[in-house]
Amino acid sequence: MNRPPAFVRKLDLDRGVVELAHGGGGKATAQLVAEVFAPHLDDAELRQADDAALLDLGPGKLVVSTDAFVVSPLFFPGGDIGHLAVHGSVNDIAMRGAKPRHLTASFILEEGLPLSTLSQIARSLASAARQCGISLVAADTKVTERGKADGVFITTTGLGLLPPGRPSPSGSLARPGDAVLVSGPVGDHGLAVLCARGGLSALTGVTSDTAPLHDLVDALFAADPRIHTLRDLTRGGLAAALNEIAHQSCVGMHIDEQGIPLRREVRAASELLGVDPLNAACEGRLVCICAHEASSPLLAAMRSHPAGAAASLIGHVTDDPRHRVVLTTPAGGRRTLLWPTADDLPRIC
Ligand code: MG
Repeated sequence: MNRPPAFVRKLDLDRGVVELAHGGGGKATAQLVAEVFAPHLDDAELRQADDAALLDLGPGKLVVSTDAFVVSPLFFPGGDIGHLAVHGSVNDIAMRGAKPRHLTASFILEEGLPLSTLSQIARSLASAARQCGISLVAADTKVTERGKADGVFITTTGLGLLPPGRPSPSGSLARPGDAVLVSGPVGDHGLAVLCARGGLSALTGVTSDTAPLHDLVDALFAADPRIHTLRDLTRGGLAAALNEIAHQSCVGMHIDEQGIPLRREVRAASELLGVDPLNAACEGRLVCICAHEASSPLLAAMRSHPAGAAASLIGHVTDDPRHRVVLTTPAGGRRTLLWPTADDLPRIC
């Protein structure tokens, strides 16, 4: 095993900041890794400090996903960028039916970032990974000059295994007549970040739902494997996810607006900020499209799992050749749920 190099002076984790030299690849980089990251992220494969991790994944198909995290602010009620960086990749792996196994992470740090902030983020990332039962097996750190990044950006790659014999859900497999289920209230994460950005967290009381979904997915497959599509409701929220799936599968959808779970405080914050909560991201919710006959067992499985306690059947898939997602409003009217525009809610994750 590698012995960490001995440094003349320890980093001051309370008052120190990231310096350009910490990204130089020399002694300062080694010290940053040893004293800020290693106390939290200490997987045997990572400790080897080789150029790449050698992994034995066993039987099953490899599932890979990568995601960058640029959320602002870095900390918000319910979590921080470290939690998001784990949950985002874990959930994308889980949406293909796979069990997450390993994670890699790349950290872009801005010169001047307090070491105490970085240390807190490393701790959150490590605790989220532990909770998911996955290990961080490879990582990299780079530093930009002051003003060239915003505190810290993290990119993670998740590696998972599709259990042999399990059909992998896909956005292209929704069929007319399928049921559309959502695992819980929507919009929490997006509104929590917007409220934190505007100094409104205490007023609105909105908390991010950031959480891993792989265990819920396992429970769903155990209940009924006739799952056609799974998608986590991240950027663009429920509106983006349903429109993406409708186009991928060349189908339409009918959704009953009243069936969509929405927390009272999220609804109030949405009205305050002029945001449609159906366009706002979640980080711990999924939409599940399944054979009509599987909807009852899957809804029951969701509701008996802590990550899906407030799950709801919200509609069904149609054969609309224009791939529209049509909402029936509480008053009985109809409107098309549009694909959110790109710059609606920037830097939410
Ligand atoms: Mg996703």
